[in-house]
Amino acid sequence: MTKYVYLFREANQTMRNLLGGKGANLAEMTNLGMPVPQGFTVSTEACTQYYKDGRRINEEIEKQILDALHETEKITGKTFGDNENPFLVSVRSGARTSMPGMMDTILNLGLNDVAVEGLAKVTGNPRFAYDSYRRFITMFSDVVMEIPKSNFDEIFDAKKESRGIEEDTDLTAEDLKEIVASFKVRYKELEGEDFPQDPKDQLINAVKAVFRSWDNPRANYYRRMNNIPYEWGTAVNVQAMVFGNMGETSGTGVAFTRNPATGEHKFFGEYLFNAQGEDVVAGVRTPKPISELEKDNPKVYKQFREISDKLEKHYKDMQDMEFTIERGELFILQTRNGKRTAQAALKIAIDMVEEGLLTEQEAILKVEPKALDALLHPTFDPEALKAAEVITQGLNASPGAATGRVAFTADRAAEMAKDGLPVILVREETTTEDIEGMAVSAGVLTSRGGMTSHAAVVARGMGTCCVAGAGEVKVNEAAKTFKVNGHSFKEGDYISLDGSTGKVYGGKVKTVEASVSGDFAKLMEWADKYRALKVRTNADNPRDAKVAYEFGAQGIGLCRTEHMFFESERIGPFRQMIVSKTPEERAEALNKILPMQKEDFVGLYKAMQGYPVTIRFLDPPLHEFLPHEDEEIKELAKEMGLNFDELKHTVESLKESNPMLGHRGVRLSITYPEIAKMQTTAVIQAALEVNKGGMNVVPEIMIPLVGEIKELKYIKEIVVATADELIKESGQKLEYSVGTMIEIPRAALLADEIATEAEFFSFGTNDLTQMTFGFSRDDAGTFLADYYDKKIFVADPFAHVDQRGVGKLMKMAVENGRATREGMKMGICGEHGGDPESVEFCHEIGLSYVSCSPFRVPIARLAAAHANIKNPRK
Ligand code: PEP
Ligand code: MG
Repeated sequence: MTKYVYLFREANQTMRNLLGGKGANLAEMTNLGMPVPQGFTVSTEACTQYYKDGRRINEEIEKQILDALHETEKITGKTFGDNENPFLVSVRSGARTSMPGMMDTILNLGLNDVAVEGLAKVTGNPRFAYDSYRRFITMFSDVVMEIPKSNFDEIFDAKKESRGIEEDTDLTAEDLKEIVASFKVRYKELEGEDFPQDPKDQLINAVKAVFRSWDNPRANYYRRMNNIPYEWGTAVNVQAMVFGNMGETSGTGVAFTRNPATGEHKFFGEYLFNAQGEDVVAGVRTPKPISELEKDNPKVYKQFREISDKLEKHYKDMQDMEFTIERGELFILQTRNGKRTAQAALKIAIDMVEEGLLTEQEAILKVEPKALDALLHPTFDPEALKAAEVITQGLNASPGAATGRVAFTADRAAEMAKDGLPVILVREETTTEDIEGMAVSAGVLTSRGGMTSHAAVVARGMGTCCVAGAGEVKVNEAAKTFKVNGHSFKEGDYISLDGSTGKVYGGKVKTVEASVSGDFAKLMEWADKYRALKVRTNADNPRDAKVAYEFGAQGIGLCRTEHMFFESERIGPFRQMIVSKTPEERAEALNKILPMQKEDFVGLYKAMQGYPVTIRFLDPPLHEFLPHEDEEIKELAKEMGLNFDELKHTVESLKESNPMLGHRGVRLSITYPEIAKMQTTAVIQAALEVNKGGMNVVPEIMIPLVGEIKELKYIKEIVVATADELIKESGQKLEYSVGTMIEIPRAALLADEIATEAEFFSFGTNDLTQMTFGFSRDDAGTFLADYYDKKIFVADPFAHVDQRGVGKLMKMAVENGRATREGMKMGICGEHGGDPESVEFCHEIGLSYVSCSPFRVPIARLAAAHANIKNPRK
């Protein structure tokens, strides 16, 4: 028979998956002989069984819970519902990884009309007993029965008012007794039955409520953000209550072995005398700093310090502990590895190595790669954030915090930005025409599009904060307003975006600049020492390349050459090339483009100081580049000396039904080989030029969207003929290579064949994901939300590599490609290249490098180190 319930003394630290972090730690502390109020843990398997059984606790699990309860009563010498010395418990969630504040908790369970008298007797404190009872009725009603707390707060506040009292603590036992009576009446009115008096019923219902809370919207959201599988379930910890509200020798608080904000090695925390845990969390009363406990009760303080030191050494990590002092006696209610800011994480990791507590490798593993994000972008002031109002939620497309005035078009954003005040560009979705507006904006908000939408990719590249796909936002560009959840904003109104959480706030929220301390550099240095994967960047211009170089990029893994034409003075010739009808017209446009391309490549090579630079040939999904408005078509017609109607007709004829599967990538060069010729010329001439100046650039020419070996062969012949001739003419020596992206499933399937021509592979996992799932990159954002709601997906496959499907293709392509071309260089340049979890996967399948946007380079470096420490490459 499956064992679903474990007494603390029956378990240990290694049982985290089964008992959750909190349960495993309570067991471990019990084993270490620490003063832990005893109890038991209902396993995560019981939670999954609860869902399997149609959200009910089956008889077997119920029996095991009640048996464990009985055992715990024996251990504590107290009995449920007793009128002399009643046993009361707390019921708390505890998942495998901590999800603070996401699930439900119930305290003082076991109180009823009899037990409250028992509690009054045993404590000699009726006020305390009735205070506990009214807290329990409120909490049980709220969490288990889903009765809004306001029903009880109303009664409570009315009582205070009628008694002319300000502080809760001034209510007498008699007042509280009356409040309890009124609470019970209100409960019956709302539920049609009496407040449950059988503690066993209370307990089973509370366990059920905690299981149910695993599926609440907050928890689901948290899981999606942190990619935690729904299948894990939560455990439930039932623990004997100890009371911090038994008078002046009692208290409760939270303490950390080090400062979680700064990492400083100093005991840190807060506590309240004569209070229960919820008072500390709810901020009703202002707690005292923990240092004062040393004066208030030196004996307890000393004991607590000894315990906390022991716990930190035991877990080799900063601990976050909840404690209660009951009439001068210390109890530890839980311990866990404390959440911390990125800065604190770095300082703690480095200090612990210096203290001899951790090795460098262990320290590296203590810092979450994605936490570094916060060090690279400004963030909101946590205090200001508490007061801010969330108006909607979108995808956390590009991290950072931005506050600014709303602008609805890129032009307006540019105009408004001129006065020096920050702007937030709000669009349904962005296109290439918005680039300049995006570049001057502090943040970008779109109502459509996913994690690889134009807005998301470009904003990440720029390091600009972006919330994408906020579907509740209804933009009315003509009226210069947007509406969301009953709020209305017009041009110039302030809003704030948190690109790290996807939250959108109404009004201004204060931001603080991120600072990169010396610890950051030190940890990166260690990470570099232990990683096997190289880290490159996706950069299309020297400015981004420089930023990436400073962040430690070892080359460019993807230069999207079409992006080099986003700026307004450049887009003209580019559009001219697209709409050209004759080879002459196209040649004219290409002649205008060539010097610009060459100049850009010189800039990129220089910025990368000799590291490899992969230049991808044109891959414009045409719809992103075509002029849309008549005005723009007119302008282009004028530039090209064409008739408006004729050009309009051409533009119309170029519109595609499925642009993402349309005339892009290698297909464009198959139709117009002169494009490949021009680009080869620019790549090679630029390399010859910088190498003449003493550098040693080895350009890598990358052909996109290849699905068939003959496509690659056709283009490669043009590239090689053009390049070799230029090199020969120059009299210089120059090495270069020609490779391809693996982004069409067919190319992955035929990688052995493709590798006969391709000298390197780079996985374009944006397209590979799109085409493997058959999900349009541009549209998936609109329906994937339903996939998360219905638990079909935990996370966005455009953000984290789908290891089972897309990953299988990748793995196969790596193996088959290298079977043809031994030791073949292989990388990834899709958005996944900066996602820690995907980086680990790339390490495992043997890629040579990952390439990501500049601001994710440090994250990828750290993730690569994690991967190699956990699973060293031979
Ligand atoms: C990809 O498809 O993963 C890729 C990097 O190319 P793009 O996003 O430009 O299509
Ligand atoms: Mg692609």
